[in-house]
Amino acid sequence: VIYDICIVGSGAGAGPIAYELSKSGKSVVVLEKGEYLNEEDFSKDEIAISRRDLYTPNLKDEFHIIYQKDDEGKTTRYDGREYNWSFWNGSLVGGASNLMSGYFHQMMPYDFKLKSTFGEIEGANVEDWAVSYADLAPYYQKTKEIIGISGDDGNFPPLQENGATKRFDKACKKLGFKPLRVSRAILSKDAFGRNGCYYSNFCGSYPCASGAKGSSRAALLKRCNARVISNAFVYEIVTKKSVVKEVRYFDKQRRSHSIKAKIFVLALSPIETSRLLLNSKNSHFPNGVANNRGNVGKNLIFSGGGSGEGRIRFDVLNQKEQKELMTPGLFFNRSIKDFQVIKKWGRSYKGGVIDFLFEHQNIISRALREIRDKNGDLIWGEKLQKKIVEDLRRSRVLTFEVFNDWLPTDDCFVGIEKGVKDKWGVDVASIHLYSHKKDRQIGEILAKKALKILKEMGAVEISYDISPNPPPNLVAGACRFGDDPKKSVLDKNCKAWELENLYISDASFMPTGGSVPYTWTIYANSFRIADHLMKINH
Ligand SMILES: Cc1cc2nc3c(=O)[nH]c(=O)nc-3n(C[C@H](O)[C@H](O)[C@H](O)COP(=O)(O)OP(=O)(O)OC[C@H]3O[C@@H](n4cnc5c(N)ncnc54)[C@H](O)[C@@H]3O)c2cc1C
Ligand code: SF4
Repeated sequence: VIYDICIVGSGAGAGPIAYELSKSGKSVVVLEKGEYLNEEDFSKDEIAISRRDLYTPNLKDEFHIIYQKDDEGKTTRYDGREYNWSFWNGSLVGGASNLMSGYFHQMMPYDFKLKSTFGEIEGANVEDWAVSYADLAPYYQKTKEIIGISGDDGNFPPLQENGATKRFDKACKKLGFKPLRVSRAILSKDAFGRNGCYYSNFCGSYPCASGAKGSSRAALLKRCNARVISNAFVYEIVTKKSVVKEVRYFDKQRRSHSIKAKIFVLALSPIETSRLLLNSKNSHFPNGVANNRGNVGKNLIFSGGGSGEGRIRFDVLNQKEQKELMTPGLFFNRSIKDFQVIKKWGRSYKGGVIDFLFEHQNIISRALREIRDKNGDLIWGEKLQKKIVEDLRRSRVLTFEVFNDWLPTDDCFVGIEKGVKDKWGVDVASIHLYSHKKDRQIGEILAKKALKILKEMGAVEISYDISPNPPPNLVAGACRFGDDPKKSVLDKNCKAWELENLYISDASFMPTGGSVPYTWTIYANSFRIADHLMKINH
């Protein structure tokens, strides 16, 4: 069989193309290394999910080698197996989109033109995007219409929210900040053959048992005719000159299979997409497919920023507020976007966004917060028991996440750790990390704004952490798109410059991150590529 389209990976980058192309009558096959699990398979078992990596590979089998460069220029090597440092985000049909919290933000028009709006930053490789906000806007809209987004920027009514948001809004008003209700890729009522949210209390990091969360699996792959082959680990792209002829994959028993197609799309998420390209070598591409100019893997980015928290205790609340605070399941859903532009050090910089949410409901992590007394000393036995009961019954922790740009640099990239093999016998990726100082300075400014709100709300035990360690779930870049083939891997339609029929539709294409979580943008861009693929004749 020769398929019209073969897509590798099944997450947010893959779903829209599989959906649109298969609905238009093309034969589409999706190859996914993880299992095909469904709503009935998903439970809220904290130990299985948070402690045993049920939906990500065991690090003994599949891992990365991480190199981290610090501000002084010293590089330290970490073996992911030894340091329990995982960059896997969800190996199952639908990928990480099953596990996301679904906070959905669009990028601002100037995020597409960071270099021309804010100017160069020393030591960073900032480039404008090859498309503008106006080019992507119809596809942000299409994402809404097909996936379903609730809230102010969405097409569904807002999700129900916890009464403590009133206290947040009041605090913001006093400080002169504008509290926004975050849009979520969660259905607030039944639609598209999917159930509305039932406020399970365990959303982010947990797959959704109702179909309300707009994962690529629930919202797209299950609603189209694409053939999904699960447990298919793709290990090689086979090309003849500038044409991809086939991809090869191992099944669960490590038997090799081949899939032929007219067009191939990679959506393994940036680190694994680059690894597959770099590991696929032949006489035409001695340094890896699409890499004759040496750009594959370069300018890997994450979301900059960090997180923080404060505890809201009963003593600052009246009886009604206490009851509201303890209502389980309802969302916090607040965001601050007042600091998108920061004037500092004699010029303007791109700032970012702060999202607020309740601490994760996982009881183990909540109990672990309690193991020290006010002086920082460890407590145990009855004292610990009392503290857990008191804090969990009479307070809640409000957390915040800061999103600002992780500037692309020469020191942050994906490579191959030659000779270090995973359970498939394939060389693993090396992840080279470096956080530009400016990222952390901007992150600090934003975090301090969040602290003001927590203080105004009467929260206590306030803390934050802006660190050079990246959030592994918000990864982009490494195969940038652009107008100049010397500086980019992909053209503006996300086709590899060096090949006739190879596209990349995960977040690899992004030259800069837009200082928001990426998934609405990944979905939108993938719908845009789908439109392009439907127009061209292959
Ligand atoms: C806990 C959590 C919370 C999040 N919250 C948010 C949020 O609130 N808002 C937001 O915008 N984003 C959020 N995200 C991020 C979001 O999930 C990702 O941006 C999005 O899923 C990325 O899509 P992708 O297609 O690039 O990759 P993925 O969704 O990771 O899909 C890649 C797929 O490729 C498969 N694959 C990898 N290698 C191979 C191979 N060799 N062969 C075959 N298949 C392979 C993987 O198994 C995986 O299924 C969150 C993520 C996590 C984990
Ligand atoms: S039911 Fe609602 S809260 Fe629970 S996982 Fe699904 S979308 Fe999240």
